[in-house]
Amino acid sequence: MLCTRERDWFESHQALTQFFIFFEHKWYNAANSNNHTLTMKNKNNVSTEPKAPINWVPSIMFIISTLAVLVAVPWYGFSHGYSSEAWIAFIVLNFFCGIAITAGYHRLWSHNAYQAHPIVKIWFALWGACAAQNSILVWSSGHRVHHRHVDDVDKDPYSAKRGLWFSHMGWMLRKYPSGEVNFDNVKNLQADPIVAWQHKYYLFIALSMMIGVPVILGLLSGDFWGMILLAGFLRLFVSHHVTFFINSIAHKWGKQPYTDENTARDNAFFALLTHGEGYHNYHHIFQTDYRNGIRWWHWDPTKWLIHAMSWVGLTSNLKTVSNFKIQRAKNHMQFKRANEELAKAHSSENLAAHMHKNVEQWKASLEKEYEDFKDTLQQWSELQTEKMQSTKKDLQGKWDKAVIRTRYKELEYSLKMQHKRLKFMHAQFAFS
Ligand SMILES: [Zn+2]
Ligand SMILES: [Zn+2]
Repeated sequence: MLCTRERDWFESHQALTQFFIFFEHKWYNAANSNNHTLTMKNKNNVSTEPKAPINWVPSIMFIISTLAVLVAVPWYGFSHGYSSEAWIAFIVLNFFCGIAITAGYHRLWSHNAYQAHPIVKIWFALWGACAAQNSILVWSSGHRVHHRHVDDVDKDPYSAKRGLWFSHMGWMLRKYPSGEVNFDNVKNLQADPIVAWQHKYYLFIALSMMIGVPVILGLLSGDFWGMILLAGFLRLFVSHHVTFFINSIAHKWGKQPYTDENTARDNAFFALLTHGEGYHNYHHIFQTDYRNGIRWWHWDPTKWLIHAMSWVGLTSNLKTVSNFKIQRAKNHMQFKRANEELAKAHSSENLAAHMHKNVEQWKASLEKEYEDFKDTLQQWSELQTEKMQSTKKDLQGKWDKAVIRTRYKELEYSLKMQHKRLKFMHAQFAFS
């Protein structure tokens, strides 16, 4: 955060101010025209409540980086050209900043999904500051609120229910009550000396990394302005929007295989852009898992990096959710969707006779599958109790452990098979 003197300096630049108000007002209104609006309106649709005050520091940072990318970056490219070193620095710095946010700010600090060596933490703290998304403490506090009150228009700081623009970056441009920072939910992080150090000296660290690194690289490579524009401005712009996609697009487009209790989606394409954070539907239901893409083929370089670092002791205690729980969530969603379709089919007034027969058949099969599902869950919870009791009494020999593991595998397999059967039944019903 900037000090009062710097803020005053920014506020004295009225021309930029007017430009910004126009720009932000237009985008905000357009994006929210069909969504929830925070301002109360009277009969003539005229706003009767003042808008939240503009948050100048991020607003001006976004204006400067956007103008630089739209004007200076292409102009310099056409008139002077960029060195290959500048392009390489852009890619590498973008990766460093992105991973510091996904592996550090997000999975390590916000969710405690694993533990990291202090060297790794310092690295993430430095490059996370370079990403210019505020300190670890502020970021993690807001993110924990996002998970706790996801989609709540009054409490979630970047609620997707307030429109695509708001959840992307509109939430940072004004001082909305939902964005107020309260460190009560990050007390464990306040006790972390690296987090406390980064928070205390955030402005100095952020400016040193954002300006210092491109300047040094520019002097070393001989392409000073190329480096400033690509490794400085373009990198900042890209790494900002890539992170913002997770709050906007990953809550708007994609599939919901695990839960539809919130707007989070799994989107493989955006996982490519966001270092694996596109599997957001999974992440919202199992937030403590250090993985977001759980299959080996899921593009999640953040997961691969955290895992690779564990081989040399730089990370440890990597948390994962059991396959059974994951499969349980998927089957649960299948039943939910099937029931919704059945209800729709039943409510259809002109249900043809043969269709009616199919619906009844499908309903009977579903009921049987659901009984099996409940039975599997019951067996699983009994097994959990058994395991806990034997661990308490320290009775778990190698043999007991192997038996329990096999029984877990069997239950997991039975859910997987059920998932396939439900898929098949659904396809049959859809084509009947
Ligand atoms: Zn989210
Ligand atoms: Zn999260």
